[in-house]
Amino acid sequence: MPSIEEIRKVLSTVQEPELHKDIVSLNMVKGISFENGKVDVAVELTTPACPLKDEIVRRVEEAVAPLPGVKSVHVEMTSRVASSRAVSGKLPIEGIKNVVAVYACKGGVGKSTVATNLAAALAAEGASVGLLDADIYGPNIPLMMGTHDRPQASEKPDKMAPLLAHKVKIMSLGFLTDANTPMIWRGPMVHSAVQQMLRETDWGELDYLVVDLPPGTGDAQLTLIQSVPLAGVVFVTTPQAVSLADSVKGIQMFRKLDVPILGIVENMSGFQCPHCNTVTNIFSKDGGKEEAKDFGIPFLGAIPIDPQVVSSGDGGIPVVLQAPQSPVGQAFRRLAEWVAANVSVSNFVPIP
Ligand code: ADP
Repeated sequence: MPSIEEIRKVLSTVQEPELHKDIVSLNMVKGISFENGKVDVAVELTTPACPLKDEIVRRVEEAVAPLPGVKSVHVEMTSRVASSRAVSGKLPIEGIKNVVAVYACKGGVGKSTVATNLAAALAAEGASVGLLDADIYGPNIPLMMGTHDRPQASEKPDKMAPLLAHKVKIMSLGFLTDANTPMIWRGPMVHSAVQQMLRETDWGELDYLVVDLPPGTGDAQLTLIQSVPLAGVVFVTTPQAVSLADSVKGIQMFRKLDVPILGIVENMSGFQCPHCNTVTNIFSKDGGKEEAKDFGIPFLGAIPIDPQVVSSGDGGIPVVLQAPQSPVGQAFRRLAEWVAANVSVSNFVPIP
């Protein structure tokens, strides 16, 4: 019969696939018990949306099962999301562990679609999630999340209560403006409006706050990016060369501002005909993937063109919830998992 210490010893040979350290020194093993031939191992992940959950379970089972007297191995998964490291010169937001921005260099590439599906997928995996719509050109997150109310005062003094849809807490620039009156946003105005939404919303405790940034590299965008303590950016592009040429400017902007890019998503990547299954690459192919390679940035995956994205977005239910098993639903889910994993990796403080 192995002792608990012997089981712990074999677990210290199990590598966490992303952090490349063993799960015991990473302090992920929270409990071990052994009774009547059954071993129970409690493993704490760095995010409930871990894409490598199944792989970790497999590795634990493979390590423990050969020990003498072991008849079965059961792995219990829990999670605790770590906070991103303090960003120098930027005030952290109380209760919010990680602010993740979604960005595109130009409009219409699916940035808000990615932001809503990312937030909904993370929340569906069990994370506590907020979504802040800071797109000055078209704050349409409330529509895409199916909320039509206006935020009310919170019980906390001087705070607004966010709206809640699909387990996501939502605040939008659209709530502060009149939809029918065009507004010209200048840098300082954007700065104060976004600071107000960030810091005067009663977010509670959040693992992730997803921020839908305005597209482009203008003054308003720069002011906004500089004023938010970002864990990193999800960069949305289409596979097409024009979009990619713009992307280079955006990548350079984030590098200059010292904001990490968590990865590039290639949206509107190929359309599969529902009748004959032929894939047509309407906006060309693999551009985002190649760009990620050229710039040494992680590739977060390709999202196909699918009319369900449009109908579910317009209907206020993100496609990752409306059609979770469809190829596009699965692609958004994988995207969310890799974003969460890359946030964990960037929060990881190496063990000396
Ligand atoms: P952005 O925020 O970049 O301006 P949106 O997210 O508003 O772009 O998307 C623009 C339009 O493209 C919306 O009508 C949206 O439903 C549609 N769209 C986005 N991604 C896809 C996709 N993968 N397949 C089909 N339509 C999409």
